[in-house]
Amino acid sequence: MVGAMDSLELVAREVAACSACALASYRTQTVPGEGAAPASLMLIGEGPGRQEDAEGRPFVGAAGQLLDRMLAAIHRDRTNVYIANVVKCRPPDNRTPSEEEALCCAPFLSRQIALVDPDVIVTLGATATRLLLGGDARITRVRGQWHTLGERAVMPTFHPAFLLRDPRQKRLVWEDLQQVAARLGIALGDGSADRGW
Ligand code: SF4
Repeated sequence: MVGAMDSLELVAREVAACSACALASYRTQTVPGEGAAPASLMLIGEGPGRQEDAEGRPFVGAAGQLLDRMLAAIHRDRTNVYIANVVKCRPPDNRTPSEEEALCCAPFLSRQIALVDPDVIVTLGATATRLLLGGDARITRVRGQWHTLGERAVMPTFHPAFLLRDPRQKRLVWEDLQQVAARLGIALGDGSADRGW
């Protein structure tokens, strides 16, 4: 439930002032998230990396450029989706956020989801998938299938950073994205263009 006075700007301001978990001491700046609101599609990654920490924006490094191409393949871009991460501060050495850190930051993400009000959420990688679907959800097992978060549909898929390390998995992610497009009523043509990413 969104408070009557809540807003993404307020979330961002509170994130900027937050020191509730240990990650606060490693950040250059916070990375709250960005994009359209409301938006029918929201994507949730793990946490800021070096470049995101430097710029204060999510998914601006190599993985972010791949994410942009993935979105373009389903006729979406940053002007019509919302992009956020589980944790808003960069973990040192880009390590995976601990469960404790993820849970500590989760109230910000919950408010963002309520404010963006997406029909479909795509969780990118294991951390976001575990947070939204439950602690024992394994990305390799649950990706490619629809799940629910309240009334919202959730499609877990691999994180773009993983695809940079193992591009062969793009084929599976493209299948997931095609399901997302179909759910949102996005016509992709005959598919001959494939992903191009
Ligand atoms: S990661 Fe989240 S909970 Fe931890 S300090 Fe940053 S904003 Fe606060």
